[in-house]
Amino acid sequence: MPTLTEKKTTRSGRPAPELIFGDLWEYDPAPETADPKLKARYDLFINGAFVAPKSGKYFDSINPANEQKLAEIALANKDDVDAAYAAAQRAFDTTWGKMPGRERAKYLYRIARLLQDRAREFAVAETLDGGKPIKESRDFDVPMAAAHFFYHAGWADKLEYVAPGHKVAPLGVVGQVIPWNFPLLMLAWKIAPALAMGNCVVLKPAETTSVTCLKLAEILQDAGLPPGVVNFVTGFGETGAAVTGHPTPAKIAFTGSTEVGKIIMRSLAGTDKKMTMELGGKAANIVFDDAPLDQAVEGIVNGIFFNQGHVCCAGSRLLVHEPVADKVLAKLKNRLKVLRVGDPMDKNTDLGAINSREQLKRITELVASGVKEGAELYQPPCKLPTKGFYFRPTLFSGVSMSHRIAREEIFGPVLSILTFRTVEEAVEKANNTAYGLSAGVWTDKGSRILKMSTELKAGVVWANTYNKFDPTSPFGGYKESGFGREGGRQGLLDYCQLT
Ligand code: NAP
Ligand code: MG
Repeated sequence: MPTLTEKKTTRSGRPAPELIFGDLWEYDPAPETADPKLKARYDLFINGAFVAPKSGKYFDSINPANEQKLAEIALANKDDVDAAYAAAQRAFDTTWGKMPGRERAKYLYRIARLLQDRAREFAVAETLDGGKPIKESRDFDVPMAAAHFFYHAGWADKLEYVAPGHKVAPLGVVGQVIPWNFPLLMLAWKIAPALAMGNCVVLKPAETTSVTCLKLAEILQDAGLPPGVVNFVTGFGETGAAVTGHPTPAKIAFTGSTEVGKIIMRSLAGTDKKMTMELGGKAANIVFDDAPLDQAVEGIVNGIFFNQGHVCCAGSRLLVHEPVADKVLAKLKNRLKVLRVGDPMDKNTDLGAINSREQLKRITELVASGVKEGAELYQPPCKLPTKGFYFRPTLFSGVSMSHRIAREEIFGPVLSILTFRTVEEAVEKANNTAYGLSAGVWTDKGSRILKMSTELKAGVVWANTYNKFDPTSPFGGYKESGFGREGGRQGLLDYCQLT
């Protein structure tokens, strides 16, 4: 039996909120058992059908929780990408581009409903392929993906209100490339607004997480979406480069690292293609001494340990007001001790598997740099599975702005803690980064929230909460976190021509 040592008791004799936790209470395993209905091999999805890749080559998608092979995925080459764009252009010219918005809405609505019907199956597939805890794919990724299709179904027959006073028209065919951290959700963010506006799509998912994309292709078929409106080409970076470098698309929408975003921007310089770039981040979560500290600690933990920190807007830097710094650090350490790390398919798991061996290597290397540069490391003594890719939730205190862990995107469950004395210092430190995707402010004062959200150079500023998303709310970055918005009316503006 674990020990729960009370630090204090209240007058009624009940434990005070500040408890010192001993060992983690062991629960019985609670594995999710729904059938993900996976095929052994997935082909490309072009012109409404699954087709073998012209190269004849396939690569393995593995389950990062146990390193076992999950499925074979087709490797698309340049010729496959050509075929996908030809199908998309044909669909745009003959059906989708001419269809009234109210008809397009019906397809989007049907896709959303079909996804809801198969939600459990999709959640399991997402967790097996990507390593995130089942409670996240079940409660966040899949419902939020369906919500994006519903939301954009609602827009498709009201497009005259996207830009009042203007006429809106689709761009034509768009090329889209997405990362591995929210495979199905990023897919929904990309294709739902594009389709609502009347565009046709060629999309490449990330090489480690293609499964739910190809499962969604089954839903597109079941929804009767006209052939060629959406095409999926799977593969590695070269396939992505073939998608972004192709002459057909009128727009390239990319979500991924700033490094690859810059390569794509350089390759498109001088063309008339539109671009939106959703890139990396190094968000600051800023906690003032008047904040409700227990809620703030929950928000900080959610901000960086959600999805193993594989989140572009992860609150990876904690800026904490000096008077409460020790208290917040002690509370965080206690909280980390009771995070459950392990099998992502277990419904109790808080932190699942790191997405790939490469990502685990990168996290490990950056954490070693933090220790070498003199920051103080804390990791709870949790047991990690022996097979698969796992990393302990990690805190670094005594971090300075020059440390790599304070500047570089780690994209893992690692929090770097810095302190500040004044509001001005908090703003300066938070903005002292090449990125500008998101930030969080924890304080009791409304006026301070308003001041901070005006001065922080971040696309999203959460106040007394963190990592909250809604399809109606635009999301996007400042500085090297990219440009363009996804979600809301603003997201639709990035998929249309205005006259
Ligand atoms: P990444 O390495 O940039 O890859 C993103 C996608 O681009 C993948 O599909 C990748 O294919 C493809 N790709 C690689 N090289 C390419 C090239 N030369 N031309 C065209 N496409 C290419 O990023 P990641 O490691 O998958 O994802 C993590 C990054 O995404 C983080 O930096 C994170 O902050 C960012 N992100 C940003 C947002 C946002 O909304 N701002 C949201 C989520 C993630 P392969 O997988 O086959 O290499
Ligand atoms: Mg995988």
